[in-house]
Amino acid sequence: MQPGFPPSQIRRLVIKIGSALLVDPAGQVREAWLRTLVADIAARKAAGQQIIVVSSGAVALGARRLKLPKGGRGSLEDAQAAAATGQIALSQCWAGLLAEQGIIAAQILVTLDDLEHRRRYLNASATLDRLMALGVVPVVNENDSVATAEIRFGDNDRLAARIGQAARADATVLLSDVDGLYTANPHADANAMLIPTIERIDARIMAMADGGSASGMGSGGMTSKIEAARIATGAGAHLAIISGKVDAPLTHWERGGPGSIFLAAPAKRARKGWLAGRLTVRGRITVDAGAERALGRGNSLLPAGVARVEGLFARGDVIDIVAADGRVIARGLSEYDSDDAAKIAGRRSEDIAALLGTMPRSVLVHRDHMAMV
Ligand code: GLU
Repeated sequence: MQPGFPPSQIRRLVIKIGSALLVDPAGQVREAWLRTLVADIAARKAAGQQIIVVSSGAVALGARRLKLPKGGRGSLEDAQAAAATGQIALSQCWAGLLAEQGIIAAQILVTLDDLEHRRRYLNASATLDRLMALGVVPVVNENDSVATAEIRFGDNDRLAARIGQAARADATVLLSDVDGLYTANPHADANAMLIPTIERIDARIMAMADGGSASGMGSGGMTSKIEAARIATGAGAHLAIISGKVDAPLTHWERGGPGSIFLAAPAKRARKGWLAGRLTVRGRITVDAGAERALGRGNSLLPAGVARVEGLFARGDVIDIVAADGRVIARGLSEYDSDDAAKIAGRRSEDIAALLGTMPRSVLVHRDHMAMV
């Protein structure tokens, strides 16, 4: 078993598959290999893990179908047309192979902006949660056909890490055509050594990366993988780079196959660190003593425990949660706009539907989106 990755500790896992693994040089889906990966996914699901797939390959697949030069990456218009054409084939393929294992697939296409914008980030997060609870495997890709050049991920490595953050995944695995991070480019330097575990991403580690994709099919190189590791570990999750050039790659890796693991620092509770450190706080919610105790025990904030709502904030904005004596006790993302929050303050969750005419969430601030300060 790999350090940091015993399945019992990884409840929710993101698996990213690069273009060169999914699509052969003739532009066909590598279905036989993909079937072995899907069998791995089915085995993990049967063991109680929740899986999210981030799949590249739309541009590579579409480019071949449309006979576009430079693998469809010659211009933004070509890449977008290729992505739109390839994506439909890609999702068909995933849905079919997962169905063979009795698993229902879902498709989510996101742009960078969807995950940077708080409200949309929270929506994506809630959708992923619901899909996980329903036992579905979401297959995620960048919505390349509408993303604009300046604001796109461009590579699915960082997208996978951000999706992991939105889904509060415990780990992300990048399946690649390289089997991990080497001290130097292994193709150019015979002395290059694989680094199995990375505890801190420092300048030395950064220097080991070279940009660009070795296969020329995808857009991610080692630089984007280290960036992804920075996002994941900063959000309190592990990230592994392993080779997808073998059949059943997850099983192969679990049985001792090579790979590099960037370890999260669990003691730091890094996932919530960014929240506690946020500078723009749009509002304040004063809670009663009962709610203060409940928050101290790690519970979400329910409307019933709210005494006062101040400030003008939108759903997804950062707010301070303060005790009756004015002490700031926590900081979190509000699930409601300030006017709706004021309407439901002090009321039981069951009453929300009647008060607002709709009941989007039963909590005012979810514990997963809250940091005690
Ligand atoms: N979203 C791109 C695709 O599906 C892949 C991006 C990448 O190469 O990482 O083709």
